[in-house]
Amino acid sequence: PPADGYRGRFAPSPTGPLHAGSLVAALGGWLDARANGGQWLLRIEDIDTPRCVPGADIQIQAQLRACGLFWDEEPSYQSRRQELYQAAFQRLNGLGKLYSCSCSRQTIANTLAAAGIHTPRNQEMVYPRTCRPSQITPYSDELLGETKKAWRIALPENCQIQFEDLSLGMQSQDLNHEVGDFVLRRNDDLFTYQLAVVVDDAQQGITHIVRGQDLLNNTARQIYLQNQLGYSTPSYRHLTLVLDEHGEKLSKQTLASSINTENEKSALTELRKAAKHLGLHGLPDRDTTIAGWLFAATKAWRSNTT
Ligand code: GLU
Repeated sequence: PPADGYRGRFAPSPTGPLHAGSLVAALGGWLDARANGGQWLLRIEDIDTPRCVPGADIQIQAQLRACGLFWDEEPSYQSRRQELYQAAFQRLNGLGKLYSCSCSRQTIANTLAAAGIHTPRNQEMVYPRTCRPSQITPYSDELLGETKKAWRIALPENCQIQFEDLSLGMQSQDLNHEVGDFVLRRNDDLFTYQLAVVVDDAQQGITHIVRGQDLLNNTARQIYLQNQLGYSTPSYRHLTLVLDEHGEKLSKQTLASSINTENEKSALTELRKAAKHLGLHGLPDRDTTIAGWLFAATKAWRSNTT
């Protein structure tokens, strides 16, 4: 990939069809790439195989096409890129940054409770470093290959990460206090989203990440990993989430329904709703094709973001 020039991506997990929230992320990313004369890649994030739904990747691609959101290059699949994640994992091990952990969620919860720490339901537990050796040396390939153990990254004492979000402004997270030593390979042997996304973004030369605000909490972890692996950090723009009528985030878990792209008219209706959430105004509301509407939307995006 070129060292300069805009490269963005849309990275859905194939756990179901696109819903209103994921269309906002797709449209925002597509518009930002096109407004900047950039490329926009499609990455199917099927790393968490137990959560994937067969055929959802194909459905997502059909929905994107129906909305005129065409992507550049062949879609990439995380399930086919294991060697890349393995190499990054081994590199971090070589740097003495990893340790194995056999704590269950319950053990972690008990340890925290004993220390008087109670994690709110909607937050992740900060790992109390139970399994962390006082000094970490690289593990042999044999030990590293052991299964039924999670592998965590050992954070340094001072781990405050700051970045400027292009929509939300300055962001800051203290990884030790808010996240803790996080998992890069799970006890079922799967590499985690955090590792895979960082490797993919770097390997695919992604310069601009546009995604939903629900992922904001992950960004500091990803920047930290980029620093450890010697990758450059792309720019980030997190988009405001679409909420359902109860004020909850739409997701496949809350059974957000699929967008309707059965014909051009219904696809345009979905695009218009998504554009509203992106704060785009003055778009043609009748007698337009999807291509014509997207052209106008690109102009509106450009004037909103410059
Ligand atoms: N696969 C993630 C999701 O669908 C998005 C990853 C990303 O954009 O960084 O929520």
